[in-house]
Amino acid sequence: MSISKIGVAGCGLMGAGIAHTCARAGFTTFVTDKNQEILGKGINRIFSFIDKGIEKGKATLEERRTVEKNLTGVDKLEELIDCDLIIEAVPEVFQIKADIFQNLNNILPARCIFASNTSSLKISNLAEISGRKDKFVGIHFFNPVPVMNLTEVIKIEATKPEVFAEVLTFIKAIGKTPIVCQDSTGFVVNRLLTPYLLDAVRAFEARLASVTDIDTAVKLGLGYPMGPLTLIDYVGVETVHHTSEIMENEYHLPQYCPPALLRRMMDKGWLGKKSGKGFYVYSSTGAVGNDDELTALMK
Ligand code: NAD
Repeated sequence: MSISKIGVAGCGLMGAGIAHTCARAGFTTFVTDKNQEILGKGINRIFSFIDKGIEKGKATLEERRTVEKNLTGVDKLEELIDCDLIIEAVPEVFQIKADIFQNLNNILPARCIFASNTSSLKISNLAEISGRKDKFVGIHFFNPVPVMNLTEVIKIEATKPEVFAEVLTFIKAIGKTPIVCQDSTGFVVNRLLTPYLLDAVRAFEARLASVTDIDTAVKLGLGYPMGPLTLIDYVGVETVHHTSEIMENEYHLPQYCPPALLRRMMDKGWLGKKSGKGFYVYSSTGAVGNDDELTALMK
């Protein structure tokens, strides 16, 4: 396989998880973020995730050493110059991603493959603007990346077959199961997941039950491992909002229309677990339903 050095652009929730997963599998990995504080925090989060795993017997000291050896945080896109594959994990906003790919195209040698971790943007549109559409794919990971085995992989018409074959080999080498999806907004999982998550928000807006009880209903009644409102907090309120807006614009179907409460939560900075508050309020002692503040926000 010609892919051995990976560059990850964005060290937020997904970028940190992707960088961790690549480094753990033995790939030399560079991760960058435009915000140095977030970069430092993202790298710290990777090691505290591993340390917690070691305490629980789910990770080993050897994994920690492998990640320490293979992972480097860098502060400029220019430092990704030797990479064979760049995985972009910056916010779900077309222009932010387009700017990154255009910059990367100017910096990186022609052999480097570009991948986007977008949840809902069309890969062909990003590829077109990247200046190297024959070496462009979608690799959609799931959160938390070190744990979740699925990746949706998207080949567009312009992607060279040998590039796609390399990418599939790489995905298997990092221990993930690829499914090959068409380049359609939301791919498979978000087409199914987004209406479900938005319906849970609508259920709360209609005061069908409390935050905790809506989650409990789904866990105990449907056997899902996590409730939908907890899941939104984990994914990020703004990411769910951006994804549903993009899908609504594409499909013009009411099930993708983001409920007003999500927008109001974004405006307040209640982005979910990463900001300490969303449908739940998070503290060192656990999470409690944020019902009162959310109810006030709906007025
Ligand atoms: P996030 O906000 O946690 O992280 C994005 C990071 O990108 C931030 O740290 C930000 O500082 C950084 N960034 C912004 N502009 C940049 C630039 N020009 N150069 C370098 N870094 C820059 O978001 P996230 O949840 O990690 O989502 C990232 C992408 O992954 C989105 O496209 C999202 O749709 C997709 N995704 C998210 C999930 C999820 O569960 N959150 C799942 C699958 C895919």
